[in-house]
Amino acid sequence: MTELTKYYRELGIRDEVYQFGDEILDSLKGRFEEIDKVAEYNQLKVIQAMQKSQVNENCIHYYASGYGYNDPGRDTLEEVYASVFHTESALVRPQITCGTHALSLALSANLRPGDELLSPVGKPYDTLEEVIGIRPSRGSLSEYGITYSQVELLPDGTFDYEAIEKAVGSKTKLVTIQRSKGYLTRPSFSVKQIGELIAFVKKIKPEIICMVDNCYGEFVEVIEPSDVGADLVAGSLIKNLGGGLAPIGGYIAGRKDLIDACGYRLTSPGLGREVGASLGVMQTFYQGLFLAPSVVAGALKGAVFAANIYERLGYKVIPDSKESRHDIIQAVELGTPEGVIAFCKGIQAAAPVDAYVVPEPWAMPGYDSDVIMAAGAFVQGSSIELSADGPIKPPYAVYFQGGLTWQHAKLGILMSLEYMVRDKVVELP
Ligand SMILES: *Cc1c(COP(=O)(O)O)cnc(C)c1O
Repeated sequence: MTELTKYYRELGIRDEVYQFGDEILDSLKGRFEEIDKVAEYNQLKVIQAMQKSQVNENCIHYYASGYGYNDPGRDTLEEVYASVFHTESALVRPQITCGTHALSLALSANLRPGDELLSPVGKPYDTLEEVIGIRPSRGSLSEYGITYSQVELLPDGTFDYEAIEKAVGSKTKLVTIQRSKGYLTRPSFSVKQIGELIAFVKKIKPEIICMVDNCYGEFVEVIEPSDVGADLVAGSLIKNLGGGLAPIGGYIAGRKDLIDACGYRLTSPGLGREVGASLGVMQTFYQGLFLAPSVVAGALKGAVFAANIYERLGYKVIPDSKESRHDIIQAVELGTPEGVIAFCKGIQAAAPVDAYVVPEPWAMPGYDSDVIMAAGAFVQGSSIELSADGPIKPPYAVYFQGGLTWQHAKLGILMSLEYMVRDKVVELP
């Protein structure tokens, strides 16, 4: 073990920081065991799905180009995703460029002029505001005559069933539910809670399509929203399900007629899912999905470790050190700009790529304050890889997520603390 601490020291972690982390870790054995059990369950789920679809070498190495008719890798992978989500169908493509695109596609494919979209869980993720047209935007659903209504959560973060019942009207065609809080301070929802909400909505109007924005939530629990009544679930492959290997992509899983509609919208009426060559990315999609349960487990351990470290040091952490987890995001309210900057510098300094770069706050387009971002990733913008960002404004919170391995997440968190100690932002107890 002296060799181990020597390595940490060489990487810049002082012994006191390492030891403080080690004490915290001792108290987390039970939590980590639970996380490993979920990963084990989801690993079996993925392997069983791959076996059932007889995934073979041809699926993985077939190089489809051109139109991509009869691409066996793509078609089989979509079957595997449908098995994992227990849905009739799935669309999993490199042509779906990101999570926002997957959600936008699912909405625009299944809504028509005159329909209304309802969010019963408050404001959706920032980028969805432009998709929907909450912020006026070229090509938004609003420009096509699709209206939008929103019901806020109650002050304690639970569903306002009374207001939801009032909001469901004759035009309401689709309900969108965001599983993860994203970068808001509301709680993230468990799959069970989402199931209760879906059941409530369907009781009022059975034909409503219920869609779940599943970003950051996949494989955190042993069930997915499609197991509790969601008609559509969508997300990004440079988050959980890409397992860190997918270089691009998004997925939508759900009812066959709704997924087919997504295919027609993604490519063209008439062509639908028949075209869209996979261009050699299939190995990363299969292997990434295979690794995803343990990658998500590593990220979750990192989030729990960070929550416990920073709560012990007196900071507000969301979720708190004991709460059960419904996504991989951890927020820490550091209270000062210096805290946010030191934290992010530490995360950057622990990266396998671009560790020598020093992140600085900057005026990023679309934000109303300077933002600092730390990431040294193999895939640009990948947030299943260890990353952190914080807007430089009160309450000076930093949002932290990812880690392809638990060991890297651990190093990153210790390094964030090292930088905070070094910059005299915090003192160890
Ligand atoms: C990341 C995220 C999105 C958007 O995904 P991108 O890949 O960044 O476009 C949407 N919703 C939630 C909850 C997210 O976390």
